[in-house]
Amino acid sequence: MKKKIAVIGLTGGIGSGKSTIAKIFSDKGIPVYIADIEAKKIMVNDEELKRAIVELLGNESYNELGELNREYIAGKVFNNKSLLAKLNSIVHPAVSKHFKNWKTKQSSLYVIKEVAILFENDSYKKCDYTILITAPVDVRIERVIKRDKTDKEQVLSRMKNQWTDEKKIPLSDFVLENVDMELISGHVERVHNEIVTLLSLK
Ligand code: ATP
Repeated sequence: MKKKIAVIGLTGGIGSGKSTIAKIFSDKGIPVYIADIEAKKIMVNDEELKRAIVELLGNESYNELGELNREYIAGKVFNNKSLLAKLNSIVHPAVSKHFKNWKTKQSSLYVIKEVAILFENDSYKKCDYTILITAPVDVRIERVIKRDKTDKEQVLSRMKNQWTDEKKIPLSDFVLENVDMELISGHVERVHNEIVTLLSLK
């Protein structure tokens, strides 16, 4: 019988370095599923989901080429919590289904699932272990301003929808501080070894 593949949820606030750390795991040969990227693909390729999105948000959700009209969708849901919750309630199950299917195709001890929201919506309960990436808020703001050519107000308004590290730390199995780039590989190696040990004891 095929051994069960463990799911390690990897999260962190905006600009904490989730993608940077996920790439290090991936370079080590660990399969990584980046939920935001996959969700965007599924929103374009899954006809049933597309129909549900159009029903919820209108025809303008897609342009004439069938591409996602991200600005329109973001504008619709940004300050409308109930609409955002409805959109999530149709997109999340589609992503979950896609993730489960993707996982069956992997052959490793564990996979990493990178998600922006893990604790806020209870989805951490579906993970075998969780990793939280942390960095001071001011450092994260600076990184995002530089990366996205945006301003502080924009970053703060995106941060508002996420829990603080203080709230997430007690729920995390591993906390990985991402400040000094030179220390990161060592942190990842340590977490990887601990996960392997824990899983082999299961
Ligand atoms: P988001 O939540 O917006 O998707 P993220 O958590 O995935 O962000 P990254 O995109 O990995 O964060 O990192 C944000 C920016 O900070 C990137 O430009 C990245 O290159 C840079 N960065 C990540 N880690 C470090 C570090 N330790 N030192 C300096 N820069 C870093």
